[in-house]
Amino acid sequence: MNNIKNRLSYFLNPISRIGNRQYSILFPLVTLLIGMVTLEFIRSSISSSLFGNIVITLSILSIIYFAFRDGVKAAFVSTVAIVGYYFYIIFSRSPVDQIASGLQLTITLGSVYLVLGVIIGWLKQTIDKLVEKEVESRQKAEDGQARIQTILQQLPAGVLTVDKKGKVTANDQLEKILGRRMPNHIQSNSQSASRENKVMLPKEWPIIRALKGEHVNYEEMEYVRPDGRKIFLRVSAGPIRNKKRQIIAAVSTLFDITQEKELEGRKDDFVNMASHELKTPITSIRLYLDSLVLRTKKEKDIKNLKTLKNIQYQTERLQELVNDLLDVSRIQTGKLSFNKEEFRLDSLVKNTLEELQGGIDKKVIYKGGPPTRLYADKFRVYQVLTNLITNADKYSPQGKEINVKVQRVNGKAIVSVKDYGIGVPKEKQNRIFDRLYQVSEDIKGTYPGLGMGLYISREIIKRHKGKIWVESKEGEGSTFYFSLPVRKVN
Ligand code: ADP
Repeated sequence: MNNIKNRLSYFLNPISRIGNRQYSILFPLVTLLIGMVTLEFIRSSISSSLFGNIVITLSILSIIYFAFRDGVKAAFVSTVAIVGYYFYIIFSRSPVDQIASGLQLTITLGSVYLVLGVIIGWLKQTIDKLVEKEVESRQKAEDGQARIQTILQQLPAGVLTVDKKGKVTANDQLEKILGRRMPNHIQSNSQSASRENKVMLPKEWPIIRALKGEHVNYEEMEYVRPDGRKIFLRVSAGPIRNKKRQIIAAVSTLFDITQEKELEGRKDDFVNMASHELKTPITSIRLYLDSLVLRTKKEKDIKNLKTLKNIQYQTERLQELVNDLLDVSRIQTGKLSFNKEEFRLDSLVKNTLEELQGGIDKKVIYKGGPPTRLYADKFRVYQVLTNLITNADKYSPQGKEINVKVQRVNGKAIVSVKDYGIGVPKEKQNRIFDRLYQVSEDIKGTYPGLGMGLYISREIIKRHKGKIWVESKEGEGSTFYFSLPVRKVN
């Protein structure tokens, strides 16, 4: 029943047809014909002046109705039909002397009907076009939304979006990872997210930082699920902007890397154990070697002495490698400790350079520096220096010299090591301080190690409240810097 009502309303009510651009001229023609025949039937029962009034009123209403229902063409056809009917009335019933004035009136009325009809019809068609466009673009937006929703649900990552008002949307995968349903609104009192065992404040959350315009790339954090299980997440986030570049929301992707972390932990444990096991025999080998070298020297056995010296050199390298491995696993397990003392940095640099110069074919030039006292772990600072200088040597096969400088700037000591070697590409400069990172291209004449040195150096400097960085141009060389707070003299 309702269906029939709807259909009838759609057929007859022009307002229900707004947005429909199928226009009929048959409907106005047939309806007008029926109307005219009906009028002809009732004509004899009413006075001619009343009949005239009824015809004119109905004509105007029909023109408006058909123009609004079926547009410009229908308005035109209706006008022609009505004018035709007027002619029929004039020629069939008017006295001869009134025909001319009747025709004149008909032409005037016809013109008014036509103008009225065309204007209404044109307006109606314009409205239909606009409505159709609006419906189309709404449909397109809905289709796009549905497509994005499907993609989001299919992603293996958790996806979270938060708009400016704090409204949250999340995909199912995120709820699976976090083990909870997401709230509709961001909850700034949540204590579940942490980094390095410290609860993160809402302003530190990647999604909140992204809402302020920051791009967050692959940051690691921990999360405690409602079931008490602690998981590790790798999170990226970025702002979503409108056409005017204003931030309207932020999106964040979250990967569960708990398994990866566990595996890494087991690998670290293994490396730690293996390097501990290797340390003792290597120390013994070195001791035996030292006494063997002494004895061979006394016996003046030159040939064997050369071989033994080679073995001694390689054993030292092996020991350095094992020490680096141990340091890396100490850093990973938070067990790197320091024995701090007061010492002169400028003297340490000078002595280290003299010691290293013997094994380096480039000229190491010390540019001097003011007397600078530090309170730090002397051996660890020596380790950083050694690493930077041996790298400067390793990665500058064509270079002839290495420049080392100590400066004091704003209560900080800055040591710089400059080489004229292969350099570090701009995009890799941040990453060379990461664990096991090496610039991958094979460059002739360089002998990369395992990518541990700069990682250990960064950790040592960071733990002394200092900074380490590089300035470099590919093909021209690099300058590595580290800064440390100077010991205040009371
Ligand atoms: P490695 O044992 O590989 O030298 P490092 O951690 O000391 O490990 O250095 C990491 C990477 O950084 C190196 O593999 C090299 O690609 C790059 N690098 C370090 N120092 C320099 C330098 N002075 N010039 C050019 N590249 C360097």
